[in-house]
Amino acid sequence: EREQARAARHQPGATRDGAPVEIAANINRAADAPAALDAGAQGVGLMRTEFLFLERDSVPTEDEQEREYRAMAQAMDGRPLIIRTLDIGGDKEVPYLGLEREDNSFLGLRGIRLCFERPDLFMPQLRAVARVAKDHPNVHVMFPMISTLEDFRRARALLDGVREELGVGRIPLGVMIEVPSAALLAPLLAAEVDFFSVGTNDLTQYTLAMDRLHPQLARQTDAMHPAVLQLIKLTVDAAEAHGRWVGVCGGAAGDEVGALILTGLGVRELSVSPPQIPAVKAALRQHDLPALRALAAQALAQPNAEAVRALVHAGTGKGR
Ligand code: PEP
Ligand code: MG
Repeated sequence: EREQARAARHQPGATRDGAPVEIAANINRAADAPAALDAGAQGVGLMRTEFLFLERDSVPTEDEQEREYRAMAQAMDGRPLIIRTLDIGGDKEVPYLGLEREDNSFLGLRGIRLCFERPDLFMPQLRAVARVAKDHPNVHVMFPMISTLEDFRRARALLDGVREELGVGRIPLGVMIEVPSAALLAPLLAAEVDFFSVGTNDLTQYTLAMDRLHPQLARQTDAMHPAVLQLIKLTVDAAEAHGRWVGVCGGAAGDEVGALILTGLGVRELSVSPPQIPAVKAALRQHDLPALRALAAQALAQPNAEAVRALVHAGTGKGR
């Protein structure tokens, strides 16, 4: 392996003029941590814990979950680890849970909503995470599918109860911004959370009302649509007003055009699939932050995603 390529991917993520952008990995198992670190991950921005449930045929016990979260926290060795609580429902079906079929599963009991209905699933998970956070201050917790302020407060209250019961101190707490209402409520949420992570896969789906899995709509379901970018900008502005940070863990973060525009919008962490890390770091290193800010401002005024991509291509040579 070329020494230079290795050195480049282990540099911390930053624009050419040195504005830091943390490049983290989306991984679900501690077993994937060494490869992610080797690819240059500066942490884990999204651990999708539902995979612990999906890859087997019975509910993982509290102890089993604790072991997996602890292994991941240890593997990160002080680097940030964002553990997302269960996001079941929608397209993620878990047959052995015997959940009722829904006509509109993406609009039904999904993510945090299902967790409220199923304390038998949620509470052991919160306890497992809290136990690990007690020993590992790098552990962050994030709730999926938050669509109202009450959702967040209710989830936080459950975690607070568990922390009290187990004698665990503060845990940095964030919410996914993946429902348009959450982006619109960001000014209120920002006063109460430590961070936001934008889930562009769902945010795009719900903003454009296009099923993220629909083959005929796939081309149009693009997070670079200015309608989606406007919601991300709202989120960043609200976070900045409260001194919070915003990351992105949806697919747009790993797309080179997406990484440039999101950085220009003020996103400070991009969590991507490990193989995408070197290219995202390399793309950011070619541009100064003021230029990306100007590009993002122009992107917001475009009529559609193709125009945004054409703009970025013209300005940077990226995309197409
Ligand atoms: C997203 O919605 O963008 C996201 C990161 O979550 P998931 O893909 O697991 O729904
Ligand atoms: Mg999502």
